[in-house]
Amino acid sequence: MRFTVAIDGPAAAGKGTIARMVAAEFGFAHLDTGLLYRAVGRKALAMGQGVIDPLQAAKIAAGLADTDIDRDDLRSARVAQAASKVAVLPDVRAALLQFQRDFARRDGGAILDGRDIGTVICPDADVKLFVTASDAVRAKRRFAELRAKTPELTLETVERDLKQRDIRDASRDAAPMVAAMDALVLDTTEMTIKAAVQAAIDVIREYRGCRPS
Ligand code: C5P
Repeated sequence: MRFTVAIDGPAAAGKGTIARMVAAEFGFAHLDTGLLYRAVGRKALAMGQGVIDPLQAAKIAAGLADTDIDRDDLRSARVAQAASKVAVLPDVRAALLQFQRDFARRDGGAILDGRDIGTVICPDADVKLFVTASDAVRAKRRFAELRAKTPELTLETVERDLKQRDIRDASRDAAPMVAAMDALVLDTTEMTIKAAVQAAIDVIREYRGCRPS
């Protein structure tokens, strides 16, 4: 059985949590595609001693290994910024495309979250959601996640980081962040995460119920 769910949206809107919980509910495999860009960004920064070289970033993307993605230092604000910088590079995106498409087509169903899943990676996904929330609410959520590991962070810095990334992600030429025409927009500003997860589950159940067998 193949079934693909695409979840896109800006940082800290809740798409990661929704994707994880939906995957658990339906037994789908889950890919957080942001981790791929974070892994490339982290490595490019390290190899360039703080400076990202586009050619090197494309090579890193082409040779990305599981061990690059499975690290606990990919969640920092510094790596997030590096991720959004390498994500503007068409060669980096091209190098990561087939892996994501293969993942989406795996047997048993797959859910991918990112910025271009419903538009570029899986334009034929069965269900597409664009998850969003106000800037202030997203900043508060991300601040709460990061503050334990990075006590020097302030809410203002987090909000600035998110806005910078949103602008870069939405205005780039290569696969910009945008809701697919056929995506259902889920605004989680006023929702608890539990309610947002339930809304996503309901959409998928409804689609599966209506689908001709
Ligand atoms: O989702 P996350 O915040 O971890 O993504 C980090 C960065 O990776 C984003 O700001 C964006 O620039 C990039 N990204 C992307 N396309 C995706 C997933 C992430 O460009 N599908």
